[in-house]
Amino acid sequence: MISKQIIKGKCVAISSEGKGIIKTVYGVIFVDALLLGEEAEIEVTYSRAGVSYGKIRKLLSFSQDRINPKCPISTSCGGCVFQNASYKYELEYKTNKVKEDLIRIGHFKDIKVNPCIGMENPEHYRNKIQVPFGKANHHVIYGFYKSNTHKIIPLKQCNIEDTRAKDILSTFASLMEKYHIDPYDEDSRRGIIRHLLIRTSSLTDEVMVVIIASVDSFYNRSDLVKELTQKHKNISSVIYNINKRDTNVILGDKEKVLYGKNFIKDSILGLNFNVSSKSFFQVNPKQVEVLYSKALELAKLTKEDELLDAYSGVGTIGLLASKYVKHVTSVEVVKEAVINAKKNAEMNNIKNITLLEDDCTEFINRELPHYDVVIMDPPRKGSTPEFLNALKLIKPSRIIYISCDPATLSRDLEILSTDYKIEVVQPVDMFPRTFHVETVVSLNIRDTK
Ligand code: SAH
Repeated sequence: MISKQIIKGKCVAISSEGKGIIKTVYGVIFVDALLLGEEAEIEVTYSRAGVSYGKIRKLLSFSQDRINPKCPISTSCGGCVFQNASYKYELEYKTNKVKEDLIRIGHFKDIKVNPCIGMENPEHYRNKIQVPFGKANHHVIYGFYKSNTHKIIPLKQCNIEDTRAKDILSTFASLMEKYHIDPYDEDSRRGIIRHLLIRTSSLTDEVMVVIIASVDSFYNRSDLVKELTQKHKNISSVIYNINKRDTNVILGDKEKVLYGKNFIKDSILGLNFNVSSKSFFQVNPKQVEVLYSKALELAKLTKEDELLDAYSGVGTIGLLASKYVKHVTSVEVVKEAVINAKKNAEMNNIKNITLLEDDCTEFINRELPHYDVVIMDPPRKGSTPEFLNALKLIKPSRIIYISCDPATLSRDLEILSTDYKIEVVQPVDMFPRTFHVETVVSLNIRDTK
């Protein structure tokens, strides 16, 4: 196939990134915004080695699940691939995706996957956004990257971000113009402002603003911060983060507090948490309560249990679990998150928890400590064979695995499956309108071992 070629076809499946799949004699085409069963005239946009990408030129038949997207840039942004589909369709896709990965990657045969638990109102849920800044027609613009590029599509309000971000972004852009502060340009490597990271609290009205810049400081910085915080009284911190690197990593290492505190306060299921700019915190405050409640229910904790909370972030799961067990050990590699976690234990007056800054794989293999139950919540890339094999040696009776990537989850569960039997697989929609899905899995040790 070649670019611009027009091909007619029917969508027979949905890819792991939510694109419609059309099979042709020339190979497979992944099509943006095409729903299962729909027929369309497709324009090929990119093609290489039998795999092509395309966009809809004309829809020839409509799925009953097609809806009008609420977002004006839904087909170009690449963030929300399901803005044009009913939420029911999206949840079914997510349930199936987890099941298909468990079968294809994990080699599980008769695996039961519970229907994905959706959100009551799947909009404006994100408590953290990272918005790139650029320039067009001599004006400062901000928005989202066009999918697979670094070209900014301007957008004033995103349909999934917390509504408090909108006005702050707009004020910040006008202040950049007022003080002649240029956005950073990746090609020429000139300019100053790269991104604005905004975190909102679900506990209070507070907002944290992180200015990510390419230089150590800039003229008028304090005036800009003063005006910003005077106009938006709910801003509780302004952090200045310096990133001089030319990589896709958004945050740099060095930070300075320009206004207020170096953390934002949030709450989950009645406990309060301090979260710094660099600490991981689940992005959907409503659904995180559903996810953690499910994880705790499946863990069937007792007062005799020694619990390991692996990949613990700011200590959320371990602290919530602490009242049901004898003792918790939480292990997390990011220093700032562990500092937050220790403060969080103190703030909530929780004493039966040890919070360690360590690499989980190194920690567990150093002493092979015994735990009755392990709750693990690794990043997208999953855990390591060394960590999983160590679990088989220390033999906790139950493992709860929380994952945001069904592919790495399936790979890791296959390793555990020699010694552990899957009891429940429960997808939870933490990221409505996107193709991402979170899953919590409970595993019981096999009797024969
Ligand atoms: N359980 C927490 C955090 C989950 S995100 C919560 O629900 O909020 C995954 C966490 O694992 C991140 O905080 C990340 O910093 C941490 N992490 C990544 N690799 C790690 C490793 N090798 N050892 C320990 N922690 C790690």
